[in-house]
Amino acid sequence: MIQKRCANDNHGRAVVTVRFCSNCGVVVNDRIVAGRCHTEQHAKMRRAQSTYCVDCGEHLVRAR
Ligand SMILES: [Zn+2]
Ligand SMILES: [Zn+2]
Repeated sequence: MIQKRCANDNHGRAVVTVRFCSNCGVVVNDRIVAGRCHTEQHAKMRRAQSTYCVDCGEHLVRAR
């Protein structure tokens, strides 16, 4: 499935070290197995302005 490209540079890289894009949440490297994260990690990523978790693809921003 082709989605609109986001501005995150993970998409343009030859070697991507994360499974999910932190900006749009699509899989950028499906050879990396999805991880299971602690809520602490997600809280940290949320503070770092990530919209999605790069390890498990979870949407980090709470809907209002
Ligand atoms: Zn993206
Ligand atoms: Zn996660």
